[in-house]
Amino acid sequence: MPEVVIMKEIKGRNEEYARSNRVKYAKDHVLAVNIMGAPGAGKSSFLLALCNELGARNIKSAVIEGDLYSSIDTERFSEEGYASLQINTEGECHIDANVVRQGYDKLKFSDGVLFIENVGNLICPAEFDLGEGLRIITASVPEGDDKPYKYVPMYSYVDAVVLTKCDLIEATDFDRDNFTKGLRAVNDAPVFETSVKTAEGFKGIKEVADLIETKFRAV
Ligand SMILES: [Zn+2]
Repeated sequence: MPEVVIMKEIKGRNEEYARSNRVKYAKDHVLAVNIMGAPGAGKSSFLLALCNELGARNIKSAVIEGDLYSSIDTERFSEEGYASLQINTEGECHIDANVVRQGYDKLKFSDGVLFIENVGNLICPAEFDLGEGLRIITASVPEGDDKPYKYVPMYSYVDAVVLTKCDLIEATDFDRDNFTKGLRAVNDAPVFETSVKTAEGFKGIKEVADLIETKFRAV
């Protein structure tokens, strides 16, 4: 079964890169945050709102964007004045620690929060440690409340869950209790309700910023 052997080798090397990334981030006073989620979960819009919130608290943000082919998301971030870098995976469905290392070296970033927006995928990003200090999954309300039941390894892997597009909860019959029950079966990570359409009633972006600020101050 040569595939299995190759996969193990890749994972082994990934762990080495992840370790050295961790050392670099600590030296540069950087908190790295791995943002995962399905395509269309609203990762980039959430991330932009989060960067703005952190900026208001005098915390610098930079973004490494993992995308299959395009650079649309990176353009949005650089237009807003954030240091950003695109990784085109050219079909690869996740990013790994080595690719992040190369991107990070080009960014020349320090003293702030480095967001790594992973490729939209709920499976293999949970198998590749990037050396990050915080793992977040974004799940959008229209995706449904059964995601934690269907993607157990991913929901077990993360430190925080960000529900996006919460303004659609009523319109979609999204069952918060069912979602939370599925999550609690595998993880005690906090859930933050967000909406970039209306901040009214959804304080999640501020709460995530609180969590990140606390983590960043401790780096
Ligand atoms: Zn993959």
